[in-house]
Amino acid sequence: MSHIDLVSLLVEDYDEAIAFYVEKAGFELVEDSPETSSVTGDPKRWVVVRPPGAQTGLLLARASDDAQRAAVGRQTGGRVGLFLHTDDFAAAHQRMTEAGIRFTQPPRQEAYGWVVVWEDLYGNRWDLLGPADSGPGPADPHIGEILFSQTQIAARVAELGRQITADYAGRTPLLVSVLKGSLVFMADLMRAIDGPAEIDVLAVSSYGAATKSSGVVRIIKDLDHDVAGRDVILVEDIVDSGLTMRYLVDRLSSQGPASVSTCALLVREAAHGGQSEGAVTIDYEGFRLPASAFVIGYGLDAGQLYRNLPYVASYIPQP
Ligand code: 5GP
Repeated sequence: MSHIDLVSLLVEDYDEAIAFYVEKAGFELVEDSPETSSVTGDPKRWVVVRPPGAQTGLLLARASDDAQRAAVGRQTGGRVGLFLHTDDFAAAHQRMTEAGIRFTQPPRQEAYGWVVVWEDLYGNRWDLLGPADSGPGPADPHIGEILFSQTQIAARVAELGRQITADYAGRTPLLVSVLKGSLVFMADLMRAIDGPAEIDVLAVSSYGAATKSSGVVRIIKDLDHDVAGRDVILVEDIVDSGLTMRYLVDRLSSQGPASVSTCALLVREAAHGGQSEGAVTIDYEGFRLPASAFVIGYGLDAGQLYRNLPYVASYIPQP
């Protein structure tokens, strides 16, 4: 079996680099031996640091000419070039923060787990990575599990945009956002459509501050456009019982449009198959949502809060 034993990291000075990697990054100094350069005969050192317990180490290599000095901190041209994996992301992030490591952004949760970018003393960029269940967790106890991350949503919205672009080629659809929940989805979706499109907004009464459907749909703000002869796409945040979508499809259909189709970021599973007669078909569906979860974020609220979260998470009413 083979493995990568060492990777060279160009440094300006051995001692400052050792101090950073050992005292701040928490690595171990594995070896520090005097050597003589076989090329120039100058004294140099063989310095190896390694995360505790890791197989692969870093050879801290002092830059010895102008080309090497110019590459210090830029070995991968500004890209993240090194990847530090930890079993306990929250603990590692906290320890490194306390040690004064510079993180370039807050930690974020991706489908593959937690990630944050940090920089070493020369500006080399590292990813700190950890499993999904080892993260710092949202500070707000009402925010539960992240069901759809920012990256997952972006990828799905891009796909929906491509589908709509293809299906409406040669036409100018009128995208109708059902406020307020679909505002964020609409903003991203419309920019994922590559072709002419118009937009309008409708506001309907929703659940108010409660989390249970009243089944009441009331138009608070009607469309500015006349939909007669138009290809309308209704854009909703979430289809739950389907009452809202059913009502809006019927209402718009009675106004003589060329077509009415439906698009929803989330469709609750129970809303499919098992739904009562007259169930509305969702033509463009982002994600299926488990029957039980009440969700917040990416436009969806609980008591008007949490719409600004960049992901969709479950809501915990009583933490
Ligand atoms: P429906 O008429 O399909 O039962 O309900 C649709 C509306 O209910 C959505 O537009 C949304 O305002 C609200 N809703 C349903 N489920 C949820 C949820 O899990 N979270 C949030 N924030 N709103 C929901």
